Amino acid sequence: MRTRRQVGLYLHIPFCRSKCHYCDFNSYSNQGDLIPAYLKTLKREIERYSRDASLRVKTIYIGGGTPTVLSGGDVADVLNTIRGCQAGSARQAGSARQAGSARYEIGKEAEITIEANPGTLDEFKLMELKAAGINRLSLGLQAMDDFLLSRIGRRHQVKDGLNAYYSARQAGFDNINCDLLFGLPAQKLSDWERSLTTVLDLEPEHLSLYCLTLDPGKQWNARLAKDRPTEEKELAMYDLAIDYLTENGYEHYEISNFARPGYRSIHNRIYWQNEEYLGLGAGAWSYLDGRRYSNPSHPKAYIENGTKGEWPAADEESLSTRRTIGEAIMLGLRLVEGIKVAEFNNRFKIKLGNMFSFPIRRLERDGLLEINNGHLRLTRRGLHLADTVALEFI
Ligand code: SF4
Repeated sequence: MRTRRQVGLYLHIPFCRSKCHYCDFNSYSNQGDLIPAYLKTLKREIERYSRDASLRVKTIYIGGGTPTVLSGGDVADVLNTIRGCQAGSARQAGSARQAGSARYEIGKEAEITIEANPGTLDEFKLMELKAAGINRLSLGLQAMDDFLLSRIGRRHQVKDGLNAYYSARQAGFDNINCDLLFGLPAQKLSDWERSLTTVLDLEPEHLSLYCLTLDPGKQWNARLAKDRPTEEKELAMYDLAIDYLTENGYEHYEISNFARPGYRSIHNRIYWQNEEYLGLGAGAWSYLDGRRYSNPSHPKAYIENGTKGEWPAADEESLSTRRTIGEAIMLGLRLVEGIKVAEFNNRFKIKLGNMFSFPIRRLERDGLLEINNGHLRLTRRGLHLADTVALEFI
């Protein structure tokens, strides 16, 4: 029997109720009228790939934008299309059969995540999402301080975040990630500590902590950049988080990610291990057979193409072996355990230590990299300079 290859499936929902000041994601406000046509196109794209019988879907991740601007019914409909049984729409289930849809094979225990924003959730929607098969919720709390939330242009307040979290528990979600940002304009170390303690009191299974990144060329970003903390303060915030969370039972397993034992993100690990993924929706990237390619970014262009049944890549590149190895190192070093050297050598038929002996020795000497128990990994100091280290391998 032919072995199916495992992929992570990413679905992009590019709609938001408003645009946050710092946002550089592929997201659009005031385009809600496109949602019905967008979902139709997304389902077409799902069916298109479902004819490839070689794919086994290991995880599903619905990201954005704000996927929870959709109704629970719409999310269920999309997931049912993936399952090839699209409940409630006999016509479309029939058309999938006519098209010879091979149906995706989805593991029983597949992790199915949706990104959610407070202010777009209520108990009923959360119950619908749970019933649709979503088993992991990633909640964009970002800060536990109303002043900071409004500075960065978030629509919600702390109380909305707390309500969303409690409602999700009420609806039965037992795997919740909370996103927090640090390095916010005028944010003090004590503000950050308060955000961390407040979120920790909620006892989420997982936390993702990102330092705010700004593009000074953009109008709002330039304004925000004016009174952001110094780089030393940002590093102090990061260090505080590592110490505080690990003391409180979280495993620091990736540069920006922390989990209670047994709750590491399975989907994101696919990226960090440079494995294959299929990205559907506007601007989504796929990585299959050494080729990386994306859909057009704007939902209108994506809908236009999909309606014509055309799926040209907006951007694509075939990765050379050297580039693939370099990227695998860059991504693998994001994991705190690092790269299992023997496994890596076996996968790429190389000797990592020989191929990169010069940068590895230099980075070891500078205290940024270490080889420990057969793993090549960043040191604590190296975690601060991960991007600089990565450049040595690309
Ligand atoms: S909710 Fe997220 S994707 Fe939407 S505008 Fe804000 S940061 Fe961007």
